[in-house]
This record gives sequence, structure tokens and C-alpha cells, in this order.
Amino acid sequence: MSSIWVLGAGQLGAMLKQAANPLGLDVRPIDIETDATLPLEADDIVTAEREDWPETAATKQLAAHPNFVNLTTFPQLADRLTQKQWIDKLELATAPWFPVEADSTADYAYNTLGDRVLMKRRRGGYDGRGQYWLKQAENTQIPDDWKGQAIAEQAINFDEEVSLVGVRGRDGVKYFYPLTLNLHINGILYASISPLTRLASLQPQAETMLGKLMDALDYVGVMAMECFRVGDKLLINELAPRVHNSGHWTQAGASVNQFENHIRAVAGLPLAPAVIKNQSMMVNLIGVDVDYSWIGIKGLELYWYQKSVRPGRKVGHINMCSGELNELQAALNKLASAMPEPYDQALAWLKQNLP
Ligand code: ATP
Ligand code: MG
Ligand code: MG
Repeated sequence: MSSIWVLGAGQLGAMLKQAANPLGLDVRPIDIETDATLPLEADDIVTAEREDWPETAATKQLAAHPNFVNLTTFPQLADRLTQKQWIDKLELATAPWFPVEADSTADYAYNTLGDRVLMKRRRGGYDGRGQYWLKQAENTQIPDDWKGQAIAEQAINFDEEVSLVGVRGRDGVKYFYPLTLNLHINGILYASISPLTRLASLQPQAETMLGKLMDALDYVGVMAMECFRVGDKLLINELAPRVHNSGHWTQAGASVNQFENHIRAVAGLPLAPAVIKNQSMMVNLIGVDVDYSWIGIKGLELYWYQKSVRPGRKVGHINMCSGELNELQAALNKLASAMPEPYDQALAWLKQNLP
């Protein structure tokens, strides 16, 4: 069978490769900085682990391939301005916003969006980087280097954050995982839990929203939708045209995980609804070194990305899945005594949200 090339060789590429292994598929994550001539064949397939990339020798070769799935969709979703325009065009709920132009003023932002406004850089932001708060009480102004480069969003006083991960095949068939509840600390995802019965009533609303987007974009593969829950209403925060951190729990908790589903879809292989196994939780490892004593905890699965540890950098994650809630409680207690701050907060949040 042909090879599947992945633009990018970070942890998502590695996990796509890992998931495709049992199917006997040849998945090749490519470091975008490599100078090598890639032996791309005409019937190969190209996908990406990131939505935005610079033009390099490697990305130029990959982008020139006729089987680069969703190629024209990436730039539309990688730019927050066009992403928000898509959401508006499809009349889906999102945080009220406007584009920050050369002549935009903070007064306009306060008058139209309220006294707290979040500017987000149009490109390249992740893990809460590329955000800038405008606060009327502090008379914050828009710095010059944000003009023409950002969108401004109303501060949403949400109840909680949830996300939906879905997959769409070439024939338009779509499957979704159960909604995931997410905890962000300082703009970065720390923990996820799914499935939760108390979120089930929001599932149809979420599936309709993401399904509409995937259909409109004729998207093939896995896409994630991050939402704010305000009462019984979901507002889209942002979209990711790729496998997503909040779907990592599916490695432990679903018969087909998000990585395998993405590969199946881009390769044109059959999709099927995933069987969801028990209760899953995920904890991101952010700026902490690996401690192999963790894997002595029953039910715990460790993914270590072999990256150098820096403050605020995602360097791994932990999945836990069990049908015994006592077992999960015990695992969280053991982890809490083996992990540094602010993990006490993240682990307490998971405990609180266990059914
Ligand atoms: P990611 O790593 O998920 O790609 P990102 O840097 O692209 O993150 P966002 O997802 O837009 O950024 O925002 C990060 C977090 O900041 C959100 O998960 C949420 O906690 C908070 N946030 C974002 N937008 C708003 C808003 N309009 N009002 C209140 N909080 C917000
Ligand atoms: Mg983002
Ligand atoms: Mg986000």
C-alpha cells in the first residue's frame, strides 16, 4: 500500500504513526526543517499534524503533492480571522468578535465587546500564547504590533470548557466521540475527562455544529471543536483541523482512537463508530520531568514525547481508563502525591468531576 506522509514530526505525528502500525500502514512524519528529497510516490497520501507551517524545502515538496488531504482548508482555519468568518457564515454560535485593523482602538473594543476583551493573534498562537487582554479598568490600549495581526473577542464568562472530536470520511460519513470536559490553566490544557453523562444532553448540539463545519469544508479526517459551555448553550472557541490534545484519552478509552480514525479517513479506509470503554481521564505533562514511578499506578498509561523539558512546554501525557471509579480515585490520589504544582489543582478537578 502507498505511504502516508505527515507534515510535522512532533508528538501528534508520532502518535499517528503508532496508531497506524497495527493496520500495517506506513506512516512517515516529516520534520519540516529536513533538507532531504522526499521519495513521494504518485499514489501516496499527505496529511499534517499542524494547521500552520512555514515554507521550507520539506513543506514545499509535501504541499505540491496532489493527494494532500484538506490542503486548501488548512490556511482557512489556521488564520483566526477566516476561521471566525467560517463560523459566522454557517451561523454557528461563537464569542462576539471583530478584526483588529490598523485603525482599531481599545475604546471601540470596550464599546462593542465590553470591559474585558481578549485579543488573539491571527496566526501561530497555541497553549494560550499569542493572547493579549484589554481591560477597560486599566485603560489598556492596543499595542501597534497587534494592529492588523489579531482578532478581538468578548471575554466569555463560561461555566466550563468542553470539546468535541469528530471524524469525517471521503464519502461524508461522520462519527463523533463523546464530549470531553477540559481544564485549562493560564490558557493551557491540563486535564480532560470523558465521557460524562451530565454532558450527554449537549452532544447533539455539538455534533450538529461540528458536522456542519466539516461538511461545508468537505473535510476528511479528524477535526476538533473547542467550546465554552454557557448554561445549555455551546459557543465555539476555536477549531483544529487535526488530531487534538483533548482527544488523547481515546488512546485508552475507545476501540478506535482519534489517531487511527484520522489515518483511516485520509487513507480512504472504512470508518466505524468507536466503542467507548469505561471512564477516561487525561493529564498533560507540562514542564515536568518524567517520573517512571508513575507507571507503577494501576490503570495508568504514560506517553513521554522525548522532548527537552522547559517551563510551559507539553512534554507528555498520562491516560487513565477504568470501569472502577474507586480505582480512578486511588490513581488520582497516588499521582497527586507524586506530582509537583499545579497538578494538585488539576488532579483535584478530575476527582471532582468523576461521576
Ligand atoms: P490551544 O492550545 O487550545 O490551541 P490557543 O492558544 O489557540 O490554545 P484559545 O483556545 O483560543 O488559545 O484560548 C486558550 C484558552 O484561553 C481557552 O481554552 C480559554 O480557557 C481561554 N479563552 C480563550 N478565549 C476566551 C474568551 N473569549 N473568553 C474567556 N476565556 C477565553
Ligand atoms: Mg489553538
Ligand atoms: Mg484552544
